[in-house]
Amino acid sequence: MQIFERLRIDSHEQLIFFREQFSGLKAIIAIHDTTLGPAIGGVRMWKYPSEDEAIEDVLRLSFAMTLKAAGAGVNFGGGQAVIIGDPKKQRSEALFRGVGRFIEGLGGRFIAAEDVGTTYEDMDYIRMETRYVVGIPSSRGGSGDPSPMCAYGVIRGIEACQEFRTGNDSLEGVKIAVQGVGKVGSAVVSMLIERGARVTIADIDPQAVEKIRNQYDVEVVSPDEIYSLDCDIFCPCALGGVINDQTIELLRCKVVAGAANNQLDKSRHGDLLDQKGIIYAPDYIINAGGLINVVDELEGYDQARAMRKTSAIKDVLLSILERSKAQRIPTWRAANELVMERIEKVARVRRSYLP
Ligand code: NAD
Repeated sequence: MQIFERLRIDSHEQLIFFREQFSGLKAIIAIHDTTLGPAIGGVRMWKYPSEDEAIEDVLRLSFAMTLKAAGAGVNFGGGQAVIIGDPKKQRSEALFRGVGRFIEGLGGRFIAAEDVGTTYEDMDYIRMETRYVVGIPSSRGGSGDPSPMCAYGVIRGIEACQEFRTGNDSLEGVKIAVQGVGKVGSAVVSMLIERGARVTIADIDPQAVEKIRNQYDVEVVSPDEIYSLDCDIFCPCALGGVINDQTIELLRCKVVAGAANNQLDKSRHGDLLDQKGIIYAPDYIINAGGLINVVDELEGYDQARAMRKTSAIKDVLLSILERSKAQRIPTWRAANELVMERIEKVARVRRSYLP
């Protein structure tokens, strides 16, 4: 890989490699853009088949974090850490304390959070060596599990789509298909039922389905059937890549709005949704409640404040939908433009000298 050429493509600022002999630590941190503030991002541990794949992943994820933080209205840039290793076999105190020491050495340019392959306990080890980590359990005065706040943001995003489409943000009687009822999806279902929506769910885990069926009046369909359901809103809360060449043909909804990261298999699938007249709520805008919740810890966690900021996801999404309509561009493109404009405006403001 031509590293500097690759960094040029998405305008990355920095790529840092770490190794530590005794714990076997091999890690990479990418800092995409720090115009708005320190880079924030997850610490992912994965059995990457090659170093090139680890580099590609860390660059892609850090870029996505810049968009997410800028869209969420918080003053953070985009970053990401990846650890090359098997999370089932290689997690240890020494390894994560090693990660913490390297993060501390960056002097606050990167703030870490939990991600795929890492846990609260790993973050605790990182915290023993650095202040630059968020996602503390609520039992220790932190923000705790971000999923309910993420779900609240999704509800505000769904209300924005409904208001944009019908002129009324009420969810009473609205038919909503929720794919995946794990941590976020189950909280989304609970809030939808409270608002009078008619909810259908699907999950590959029968226990997750049973738990929801026992608590709420919901319909259940198989994981394959959820795509083709005749509904108002399809709400993906499971995996990424669910809007792809196969599923796009099946969709009969009017809106796609859910929590899953990287919902579009490729950007062109966002164009295809637009051509089909389906409103797409860009994933990194609608699912930013979790990020808003964890970064609030840095000011001393205040749930009411985090909720107010998450509530604003509705206004951000409405302005993206209006822009998409006015400029006749797909919503994913309108979102990217909006967040890049925010970064550029802040960069201009910061040009002036402060004594
Ligand atoms: P989770 O693992 O708790 O739940 C995911 C659920 O989806 C599980 O119940 C799983 O069985 C189900 N699932 C997997 N494949 C499926 C399929 N093909 N069809 C139907 N169900 C399927 O994860 P989560 O924390 O609820 O996150 C859900 C999504 O939201 C992920 O894409 C995640 O990246 C994204 N997200 C989560 C947060 C958060 O705060 N947890 C924040 C932002 C984005």
